Amino acid sequence: MRYISTRGQAPALSFEEVVLTGMASDGGLYVPETVPQLSHDDLAEMAGLSYAEIAFRVMKPFVNGEIDDETFRGIVKEAYATFSHDAVVPLNQLDANHFLLELFHGPTLAFKDVALQLLGRILDHFLQKRGERAVIMGATSGDTGSAAIEGCRHCDNLDIFILHPHNRVSEVQRRQMTTVLADNVFNVAIEGNFDDAQAMVKASFADQSFLNGTRLVAVNSINWARIMAQIVYYVASAVALGAPQRRVSFCVPSANFGNVFAGYMAYRMGLPVERFVIATNANDILHRTLAANDFSKQELKATLAPSMDIVVSSNFERLLFEAYERDGAAVAALLERFQAEPTALADAPLAKLRERFASHSVDDATILEVIREAHHRTQEILDPHTATGYRAAERERGDEAVPMITLATAHPAKFAEAVVKAGFPGVPLPPHMDDLLEREERYSVLPAELSAVQQFVVENRR
Ligand SMILES: *Cc1c(COP(=O)(O)O)cnc(C)c1O
Repeated sequence: MRYISTRGQAPALSFEEVVLTGMASDGGLYVPETVPQLSHDDLAEMAGLSYAEIAFRVMKPFVNGEIDDETFRGIVKEAYATFSHDAVVPLNQLDANHFLLELFHGPTLAFKDVALQLLGRILDHFLQKRGERAVIMGATSGDTGSAAIEGCRHCDNLDIFILHPHNRVSEVQRRQMTTVLADNVFNVAIEGNFDDAQAMVKASFADQSFLNGTRLVAVNSINWARIMAQIVYYVASAVALGAPQRRVSFCVPSANFGNVFAGYMAYRMGLPVERFVIATNANDILHRTLAANDFSKQELKATLAPSMDIVVSSNFERLLFEAYERDGAAVAALLERFQAEPTALADAPLAKLRERFASHSVDDATILEVIREAHHRTQEILDPHTATGYRAAERERGDEAVPMITLATAHPAKFAEAVVKAGFPGVPLPPHMDDLLEREERYSVLPAELSAVQQFVVENRR
């Protein structure tokens, strides 16, 4: 198995190289050259297996023997032992045929743990084997930095630096990052806003000379291993509901499209999926593209579902590559146009997408209404991201006989602001986190200056 770029120009890479690389040198994203197939029997045999064993079987062809089976099984087991539910990602039945797939039982209470618990361990394995060390840098507006930190805290060969805007992150979000006292974890509070922090991370990736040859690794959602890890829960949940004999549909609260693209990969591998419903908040580029063929950037809106606040949906490129019959030049041309001006997809690829995908956009007022309505009907308190999914699933349901699985991407305690605005007293943090507000914190405050940040990284990496 080799990995190729969606823009057709960068060299093909091995699994190990693709995990360590991130973006392709031609500006594209890496995808597997061929899609491994899960036969009817392969799926049938998964019934009743543990999540870790299903994960091993689904991911094995992508790893391509570059990690031996026994070691990889161990890595997978360890990654998912950090989840607080024995099922790792339990299904919760809401009504006759609508299910929530709870992806929030990991260390930071959001679905990104599923991928990052695995990615940190895979990176560490390859670095150990190569006798190398690497530095991870990332910027966060609050929600996602902690998942990267938790994924790397046990990695001997990685040092992680996460920048957040000083005093502009909620206390719970800050503490989820700053109370991790591992000596390879560095939290930096930037005296500036999120864009300042992100610009410094981007500049560091563009010119890595300050690290004198040490590898800088990105763990953002374009890393192929994150997509790979997310394929697993589509397969596991569909099998739990009767695949391969029975079809299912999925509804996915979406932003950068990594999550729903993983579902599409599961479908291409042979999972019988009726349809994917893409839910967006008011940042609705995915919905506008699908519903109205309006593939254009609009100004960022701050919403009650902040982890879905995006202007551009980076992993959508991977789906475009498939829709354009893997024509890298056509994808490159489309995305160049998109960067410059509002554009549209060609008719054939759009028609192809519409065969399998539906979409719906949910604004803030509706998010609050859905949290109340879902509680009234099911007794569940949904987090605001999952609420977009709940509404989109109902509106774009399709065949009622096909089970609908809505992905619950975060625990409601993590986004208490929306829950309180919806009229609830709030949701307690789960027991393993209930002393979060008393734990010791560690972070450094730095000015929003690239040289200061880079000097800090160089002085502190091990
Ligand atoms: C990241 C995130 C999303 C969006 O996922 P994508 O893979 O970027 O589409 C949705 N909900 C929550 C809670 C998230 O953290």
